[in-house]
Amino acid sequence: MSKRFVGSRQTTLAGEVVLTGTGVHSGSPVSIILHPAEADTGLRFIITRDDEVVADIAADFRAVANATLCTVLGASNGVTVATVEHLLAALRGLCVDNAYIEIDSAEVPIMDGSAAPFVIAIDEVGISELDAPRKYIKVLKPIRVEDGGCWGELLPHAGFFLDVEIEFDTPLIGRQRLSVELNPGVFRAELARARTFGFMRDVEKLWASGRALGASLENTVAIGDDAVINPEGLRFSNEFVRHKALDAIGDLALSGAPLLAAYRSKRGGHRLNTLMLRALFADTSAWAVVQAPRMRDIGRPEAIARAASAMLAADRS
Ligand SMILES: [Zn+2]
Repeated sequence: MSKRFVGSRQTTLAGEVVLTGTGVHSGSPVSIILHPAEADTGLRFIITRDDEVVADIAADFRAVANATLCTVLGASNGVTVATVEHLLAALRGLCVDNAYIEIDSAEVPIMDGSAAPFVIAIDEVGISELDAPRKYIKVLKPIRVEDGGCWGELLPHAGFFLDVEIEFDTPLIGRQRLSVELNPGVFRAELARARTFGFMRDVEKLWASGRALGASLENTVAIGDDAVINPEGLRFSNEFVRHKALDAIGDLALSGAPLLAAYRSKRGGHRLNTLMLRALFADTSAWAVVQAPRMRDIGRPEAIARAASAMLAADRS
């Protein structure tokens, strides 16, 4: 586990991050500005129309309005923001605890279909630490959900471990499984660049119903008759399962704080990830908020490391 992941203090962005792109469902241009935020803000979407704020939506599973094609968050006044998962994965993957995400559209731009453009933009401004202890959601006992042929489990774990398996009835994908202990280095190298994917037959149906209007080979791995249509091919031989792991990180960021847990899912997706958080938080004996020890309360670096590993190891017995 990287030192930064166990970092005892909350973080935010060191400056503003401006990004422009296209909404994959609307096909419309979108611009977003990520702003630094004070401790305990969490990740919040500030939705604007004509420079007026029309909604302020916390990145929280209770705000999920739809999780069919992508993850959509909604406010009580009906304002929604869609396709939040790849941006949230980048923020969580890089351990950014607090940020305001200002957006002038109903959809986060799809960029290249992965989290890499968000990671690059965040890295350009950097991440700064705040004078407040980081809080984690610590999973205390196994929680399992089943949904059709899919299942997911959250288990106690001293870091954040992902074990994702997918199964598609095409030899191009077949069964793929990825197990990874997450930290920012692993996120950058192994997951951030994995793109979203879709089957041409489904995309054509979506286009006919006025959806996925912004989907193109620039932002989606398109699967035809058992072959990838994109001329550049795949970024990883198992890019599909890597993207599903990326989606899971983004969806589980809706827990509101980093999880200390192992997450296993089979044939999962946005809907299963959301159901998983609902099941976890419905059982108040299954989780607890724990704080990383404050540096000034402990003093020497070795003592900080000892205290942090004692906290993280408490559930190993
Ligand atoms: Zn995705």
